[in-house]
Amino acid sequence: MAIFKTEAVVLKTHDFRETSKIVSVYSRKYGRLQLIAKGVRNRKSKFGTVLDTLNYLSIVYYFKDTRELQLLSNAELVKPFFNFRTDLKRFAYASIVAEIIYRTQLMGDENPRLFHALISVLDGIDGAADFRNYFNAFLIRFLEISGFRPGLRRCMNCRRIPEDNWVYFDFNRGGYLCEKCHNTGNANFRFSLIALKSLQVLRDSPWEEIEQINISENYLAEIEKFLLFYLKVHFDGLATLHAVDFLRSLNL
Ligand SMILES: [Zn+2]
Repeated sequence: MAIFKTEAVVLKTHDFRETSKIVSVYSRKYGRLQLIAKGVRNRKSKFGTVLDTLNYLSIVYYFKDTRELQLLSNAELVKPFFNFRTDLKRFAYASIVAEIIYRTQLMGDENPRLFHALISVLDGIDGAADFRNYFNAFLIRFLEISGFRPGLRRCMNCRRIPEDNWVYFDFNRGGYLCEKCHNTGNANFRFSLIALKSLQVLRDSPWEEIEQINISENYLAEIEKFLLFYLKVHFDGLATLHAVDFLRSLNL
């Protein structure tokens, strides 16, 4: 049995037997892991609230490749995200991110770029005034990392950079038709040119600049709808996201 150490974010937990917990994390070095934290629900447990969902941790665990569930030995908080705990809307957005990772990533399949994106988006959702910029910047990066990069620059038919107010996306082909070409194909999702350009900026800007990008509320909502729809088309496991339902139920 080997001892491994890595940074990880808690995606989900559930109670197990009398006093233990199963903790699903996404880790920097080993991708998604399922850990068992023994005795963690005892009042005297050293873990306390360290294993709460969305916490960013440094963990040590015992690895055995014959089992799916690894034994957690130690966990310490790397960085607390205070605002998640008091702001339901931020918590809901961060929960959508965690649910997407949980449902799409295979066990032990590491991806340092995705881990970096995860930490960056949680940091932004926790601390930034315009935290939805971060959420959308994460979704477009997630699509790219997963191999579903939408073509944003040119019309699929005439190859021109569009100038009219609307473009029409074809999710299956991963691109759009401009206003002039739109009756030549099966592109049904109408997307405004301003939202399209704003999404390009979110995609192409480094994380440090995401907060400064100025996108008005209605275009952010349009981008968000577009990206969540795009995810659903390409990932069977994301047909329904509980965290999205939760966000809508808040009615904020
Ligand atoms: Zn065209």
